[in-house]
Amino acid sequence: MLVAILNPVHFPCDICNQTEEAGDVASVAGSTDHWQGEQLVLCRDDARGLRAVIAINDTTLGPGLGGVRCVRYPSDTAAISEAQRLAAAMTLKNAFAGLPFGGAKSVIIAPERGVDRRGLMQRFGEFVLRTGGAYLPGVDMGTSVTDLQTMADSGAEVSCNAEDPSPWTALGVAAAIRAAIEHVDQRDGIQGTRVLIQGAGHVGAALARDLAASGAEIVVADIDAERASRVAAEVGGSNVAPDAVISTACDVLAPCSVAKVIAAETVPQLRCRMLIGAANDTLADDGCATLLARRGITYVPDFVSNAGGVIHIHALRAEHTEKRLRSDVLQIGSRTREVLETAAGSDHTPLQIAVERVRRILADARVAADGARSSGAARRDDARTLSAA
Ligand code: NAD
Repeated sequence: MLVAILNPVHFPCDICNQTEEAGDVASVAGSTDHWQGEQLVLCRDDARGLRAVIAINDTTLGPGLGGVRCVRYPSDTAAISEAQRLAAAMTLKNAFAGLPFGGAKSVIIAPERGVDRRGLMQRFGEFVLRTGGAYLPGVDMGTSVTDLQTMADSGAEVSCNAEDPSPWTALGVAAAIRAAIEHVDQRDGIQGTRVLIQGAGHVGAALARDLAASGAEIVVADIDAERASRVAAEVGGSNVAPDAVISTACDVLAPCSVAKVIAAETVPQLRCRMLIGAANDTLADDGCATLLARRGITYVPDFVSNAGGVIHIHALRAEHTEKRLRSDVLQIGSRTREVLETAAGSDHTPLQIAVERVRRILADARVAADGARSSGAARRDDARTLSAA
């Protein structure tokens, strides 16, 4: 195992400015320009066909919670870069939702056919175990609760090994959409609002049902045409081709599939008034938030709207009732409203407001932790003085 432990540095405000292609491993590990998290672990076991990256961005608030992604990457550096970016986004998401978790993420480079998946996941669980609890893995694209159970068999603590959090993620996204419509259109309810959902998977389909039940007009796009038609028919909506998403007129565009749907080149083509979804990492870079604001498109940062899944994980671990969980997820609506109102009364975008909020949460938590360390040290000094006397 190659382990690169980097100096912890304070959480960046321009977190989304990390470069896409971070260069080779040496330059990633050696440059804090590219990497500003706490710990980066590269895991490799050729006998099991395993190559993986664990990126722990920040553990100020608790263990770094974040899913395990298992997909193909064009290069090792692309995988390392993605793990870092997503880990930083998890710090934002968990802190903004008020959860006792830091941010982390891991990626497993999808193995060749024929590799024993169970053996691979078990081995990965051993690497997770070695982080000593600093990384708390969950499900992400390409992994399932069964994989998480296998990791847990190695002794690693995992965040979810039984329930799918997607319905809670969808509930939170729906709450954010309702709040944004209320803010933008100054009206209650979403009756007649045209919402284009990109990706009719676990979250997108649940979101379509929720919004349609409140009278929204649903349009669905999915690369799986059969799935798109099925979900559209179920909610009395329609569907459009996946490549028509950006240019289709709608009130709300809800990205619920791939990352980086919105780039500087696509912003001018958008025909929506609001952008609010479940997909992590919706913007190619945070400069897009400014371009969106200039075009009068209201963007709710993805880490604000898609936190329902992590809130669900926290509720399971804290043994909250379902009633409490529902109420906590619906708080995403009030947080959305607050961010949009604060941004409207300032020169800042909702993204800048939300990132700044996280920066303050982390700064306060660090001050509190430093205070607790100092008083602990003072108590130990007192005890030493007394026993020497
Ligand atoms: P999913 O795999 O169940 O669904 C994704 C859907 O998107 C699939 O139906 C797929 O065919 C479709 N798709 C893929 N590429 C597409 C494209 N280019 N255009 C249109 N459709 C496309 O995934 P999910 O669990 O529903 O998650 C959706 C997104 O939300 C992901 O980005 C995920 O990281 C994010 N997210 C999910 C959760 C959760 O609880 N599941 C929580 C937070 C964030």
